Amino acid sequence: MRFSRVFIQAVLIILSAGCQPPDGPKKFTIVCTTGIINDAVHQIFGDMATVESIMGTGVDPHLYKASHGDINKLSNADIVIHNGLHLEGKMSDLLHKLSETKNVFAMSDGADVKNFRKLDASGTLYDPHIWFDVPLWRQCVGHIGRQIIDKLPKGKDQAEIKLLKYLSDLDSLDHWVRNEMIRIPPEKRVLITSHDAFEYFGKAYGIKVKGLQGISTLSEFGLRDVTELVDFVIENNVKTLFIETSVSPRSIESVINGCHSKNFEVKIGGSLFSDALGSEGTTEGTYVGMIKHNVNLMTKGWQ
Ligand SMILES: [Zn+2]
Repeated sequence: MRFSRVFIQAVLIILSAGCQPPDGPKKFTIVCTTGIINDAVHQIFGDMATVESIMGTGVDPHLYKASHGDINKLSNADIVIHNGLHLEGKMSDLLHKLSETKNVFAMSDGADVKNFRKLDASGTLYDPHIWFDVPLWRQCVGHIGRQIIDKLPKGKDQAEIKLLKYLSDLDSLDHWVRNEMIRIPPEKRVLITSHDAFEYFGKAYGIKVKGLQGISTLSEFGLRDVTELVDFVIENNVKTLFIETSVSPRSIESVINGCHSKNFEVKIGGSLFSDALGSEGTTEGTYVGMIKHNVNLMTKGWQ
């Protein structure tokens, strides 16, 4: 079911009228749409604000529809942060409505549009998977971090220090990924995944990337897509394919079956984190950890 604008408006009015905290002023609250955004914001602002995420581990943001509980959370937030570039395609109306009454920031506002991958000739649609270019994501985190600091009621100096520390962690991560990739010969750096989430990653780190489904998992794949990808895998002598934690493995399994039917041996190199982080408390439950997990799987698969 898709929420209509009128319905969303009605719910927001009811919530904003009736949700005063029972015991004193509530802590400054930042609500993020995805776990990837939530991690960055939590690392920087977790000590001075309540930071919450709408989507948890394994959740596909392209298909996600806000629940009543989410609308409640979002409407009580002081700041809402989403990815932008239509990643949260089914929450667009809701985010637009919220922006009329509160601070709603898009991570993609942190970088110039020329940094984004165009998806159509007219340049109105862009690839939303911007977190896979670590320096680009660093730029977005820096910009949004300063927007949040500007709105913080207290703890601005502490937040500024934590922001600088986190940006430096992202610099280190970028260097680490580059050093890992150098170890793999360029012709072996071919990444085959379920959907087109890794194009930014490929451009940033010199990897040829092919996804079976399009930019959004909303697009279905057909027999022709599978046949084309099977041919590509065989032509490029790719030995390892990857599945994604937030997308059904069915699509990649069909490519593997296609390769096997042509007597070409290929295996699954493990599950990459694409649009969602791992479970809270695990290494892959952080952005830095999930990038490292992905890179380790890739370099192992390409040996
Ligand atoms: Zn995606």
